[in-house]
Amino acid sequence: MVENKRVVIVGIPGVGKTTLVTTVVDKLNGESKHASVKSYGTVMFEQAKKLGVNDRDELRKLPVEKQKELQKMAAEEISNLKDDVVFVDTHAFIASKSGFYPGLPNHVLQILQPTHFIIISAHPSEIFDRRMKDKTRNRDKISIGGIKNELAIQESMLSSCSVLTGSPIKVILNNEGKVEEAANKVIKTIGV
Ligand code: ATP
Ligand code: MG
Repeated sequence: MVENKRVVIVGIPGVGKTTLVTTVVDKLNGESKHASVKSYGTVMFEQAKKLGVNDRDELRKLPVEKQKELQKMAAEEISNLKDDVVFVDTHAFIASKSGFYPGLPNHVLQILQPTHFIIISAHPSEIFDRRMKDKTRNRDKISIGGIKNELAIQESMLSSCSVLTGSPIKVILNNEGKVEEAANKVIKTIGV
């Protein structure tokens, strides 16, 4: 039995978190390691459906108080998972009407108790192109300058998470066409 690891994966929309973490989990399960991934947004959306929300991209438009409540319920559900490695696919912040809202406020960190934080990043122009090309999602329109700003806010949000939990942060680049390479770096970082 390896020590139970709870790995928080953040990255701004369209950087490739879901693509990358799915690859990582498939690789680990192929090596008979018990790994799973939970998309924080999906867990929150399952709860939000009960309130009549029917598009996951509507979640970030709910009043902050509502998002906070859903966020807590999702943290509790995820913290009950028993796999050796649990990846949490989430965001360092959510661009809400009231401003940048933390994806990992202290009350969530205390429930989740992450052991590792990984920031998935890429060149701003690559992120821009991926958002444009992906027709399966309804992402907010943003300029390259806006993407650079989001990357900076993400770093400042994550540094607080690291200080609050005492768990390290690793930045991994998901370069164009190099998902496998990035996946191997994630596995090396968490040491499984
Ligand atoms: P969100 O936060 O909105 O869920 P995400 O970070 O999970 O976004 P994905 O949905 O995984 O991003 O990927 C966005 C798009 O980028 C997809 O169309 C995916 O196929 C593509 N993509 C992801 N990684 C790479 C890569 N290394 N090279 C080329 N395309 C990629
Ligand atoms: Mg995703």
